[in-house]
Amino acid sequence: MTRVLVAEGAWVVTGDPALGTVRGADVLVEDGRIARIGQGLPREGAEVIDARGMVVIPGLVDAHKHTWQSSVRHRCTEMDLTTYFGEMFGRLGPRYRPEDVYAGNLLGALAALDAGTTTLMDWSHVQNSPAHSDRAVAALRDSGIRAVFGHGWPLVDLAAWIQGSDRPHTDDVRRIRRDLLADDDDLVTLQLAARGPELSTMDVTRADLAMARELGIRTSIHMGCGPEFGAMGAIGRLDRAGLLGADLTFVHCSESSDEEFAMMAGAGVSVAVAPQHEQGLPGIGHTPIDRLRAFGITTALSSDTEAFGAADLFTQMRVGLAAHRGQLAEGRSRYDGTLSVHEVFAMATQGGADALGLGDRVGSLSVGKAADLVLVRADDPNLFPISDPVAALVASAHPGNVDTVLVGGVVRKRGGALVGGLLDHARTLAAASHDRLLTERLS
Ligand SMILES: [Zn+2]
Repeated sequence: MTRVLVAEGAWVVTGDPALGTVRGADVLVEDGRIARIGQGLPREGAEVIDARGMVVIPGLVDAHKHTWQSSVRHRCTEMDLTTYFGEMFGRLGPRYRPEDVYAGNLLGALAALDAGTTTLMDWSHVQNSPAHSDRAVAALRDSGIRAVFGHGWPLVDLAAWIQGSDRPHTDDVRRIRRDLLADDDDLVTLQLAARGPELSTMDVTRADLAMARELGIRTSIHMGCGPEFGAMGAIGRLDRAGLLGADLTFVHCSESSDEEFAMMAGAGVSVAVAPQHEQGLPGIGHTPIDRLRAFGITTALSSDTEAFGAADLFTQMRVGLAAHRGQLAEGRSRYDGTLSVHEVFAMATQGGADALGLGDRVGSLSVGKAADLVLVRADDPNLFPISDPVAALVASAHPGNVDTVLVGGVVRKRGGALVGGLLDHARTLAAASHDRLLTERLS
């Protein structure tokens, strides 16, 4: 498969430090990878995608999303964190059947692709049975997105899995590693979505991390999400136990201490934040972008859950920037320096890729990396004329501006519409799942 993106006159935001942003460069894709970037590349025998009038960017990377919740979109937008926990984990989560997980994951993954997200970390804490996991992975595969499946815990018998749980992570993740997600070069790969010391005992945490490391997979853990969790000092406990490492990504960390930020920096831990949720869902705490910058911690952006917020990373970039600048303006940050649009864009691309352990494969338009590419229409009424393409994307772009999306060189969106014919199917499944989860009386 050979494709050439003809980008005459277009802006090509490579995100590659050696290339920067160039105008009028073509991108040659061979065998799903970026083969060359330069002007006037040969077009013989290639399928040409006309990228004139576009901004060409690396596919966006969403480093944490509870995709299973996508069929009950905005159910929790007016709730605080505690009420969200009760609704999604206490009431709805146990109702989820495997087909509900499939419906949520398919819809959520398609919404991500539609929004220019080419890599999605599916943080899946609804492993009510092995079939739930299987259907979650099947939906990710069917969607065509590049995905990291984060295998979490069940929501049936929930109390035994959280609140200082002494149950180790379910062994089924070993089956998934062996039978389903053994190949780390596949489009869908595996991570552990673990409970960590805030939800389970240190013995369990130690065993869970040992299992992930034995299986050769990374681990993601929510940390410091709200004052109560922050006060538990879980990152410090991991540090004292010698368990911190560069294979870990923590989510939110909004109420984790500065001492813990220093520990994360020292151990090479990455952090995924979700500014729309941190700023908008009462109880999580202020998005810690200023501290992440000050400590030099690899930072990823994420869309967390569509039960509360938006599917796209443009929103997360925009809210992150606004939150940080508001913090500075009001003197609430102890760290100087304005977060730039380029920094926040890097968080949504290379930062996310690095936090998922995929930084050498995706995250920038670099020769040899996977051809995960997004074309944004620069002549749309809300973007034209472009003076700085990154400023335009961060300040104003939305999924409706995303014209074309390629994942591994395969076209997943073209001319502003998803290709593959799955969207209607996803709508049908999600509507049925939504109605059943929210209205049906269950025994
Ligand atoms: Zn989360």
